[in-house]
Amino acid sequence: MDDLLASIGLTHGTRSSRKGTWTEGARKPVGKKKKLAAETTKVPTPKIDFDFSSLLAKAPAVVHGFSTRSGGVTRVYRPGLPKSQGDLNLGFTSHDERKNVEANRTRMMQALLGKEAKDWKLVTLQQRHTPVVRVLRDTEATHLRGDAVMTDLPHRLLGVMTADCIPVLLYDRKNGAVAAFHAGWRGTLARIVERGVGTMKIEYGTDPKDIVAAIGAGIGPCCYSVGEEVRHEFESQFAYAPELFSDVYESEPIRDKYPLLFMTARAPGHSPIGPQLHLDLWEANRRQLLDAGISAKKISVVGTCTACGTSRYFSHRTEEGFTGRMMSVIGVR
Ligand SMILES: [Zn+2]
Repeated sequence: MDDLLASIGLTHGTRSSRKGTWTEGARKPVGKKKKLAAETTKVPTPKIDFDFSSLLAKAPAVVHGFSTRSGGVTRVYRPGLPKSQGDLNLGFTSHDERKNVEANRTRMMQALLGKEAKDWKLVTLQQRHTPVVRVLRDTEATHLRGDAVMTDLPHRLLGVMTADCIPVLLYDRKNGAVAAFHAGWRGTLARIVERGVGTMKIEYGTDPKDIVAAIGAGIGPCCYSVGEEVRHEFESQFAYAPELFSDVYESEPIRDKYPLLFMTARAPGHSPIGPQLHLDLWEANRRQLLDAGISAKKISVVGTCTACGTSRYFSHRTEEGFTGRMMSVIGVR
């Protein structure tokens, strides 16, 4: 009985001061003890953060978002995070548990759709870096093979997963059709986005002038070093290929500060640290959208690099394969 009374701030035969008791210098109001305990044990829900396209956000009939890594329950990729936080891994990777990914997907849909979430179906792809574009007509289908998917069915959230590759979302505002693309260098080389616009023309009678496009975060020209063979492949496909590549010299602080230490007898241009060849996949996909007839004013580019920003994004390259997946989604109401 004494313990019970003590637990609510009373002691047998006496009463604590109405003004409260003092513990370790902090004043605890007696009457509010229970409420305070409830507040301190509540785990704050981490925020789910999306990148959005300002152009698509203006269209009320469309739901879209490029997920980032914050706000999930996955902890395997960053075990050092505070207990109340986790990654929003949306892909069934070999390192993460299935139940985590399912919980993350539910969180993502609720964050984006709120109460509407129960009326929507998530449609994902078995992605293989192919140029395969799928058209969703079957109202029951939720998983297809390919690297792009489009539909004019309402309440379908089309999702592509990436961790450095480039996600591209399209909306035909006249015909109410949407499309989502996964474009790595192979898909980009195979013109997956241009092909996709072609399929929209056939399938929905889309006029590219009515398309609003968004290119999400992916590995940027700052970080995406590739081999010479990739340049050759792009040069064989695109007249504008030289504009997509740049030579980047890796900055080495010690070398920059003490150049004399590293002076060699090599001829200029034959230093052992040569330039790296970097590819701009954002621009490559933007050019394909332009070539497909979409107006430059209707294309938005998020323009943030996943490989530079692993506190916000998953990056396959920076994290050497041990990473989760973000999802870029679009659907019509
Ligand atoms: Zn970067």
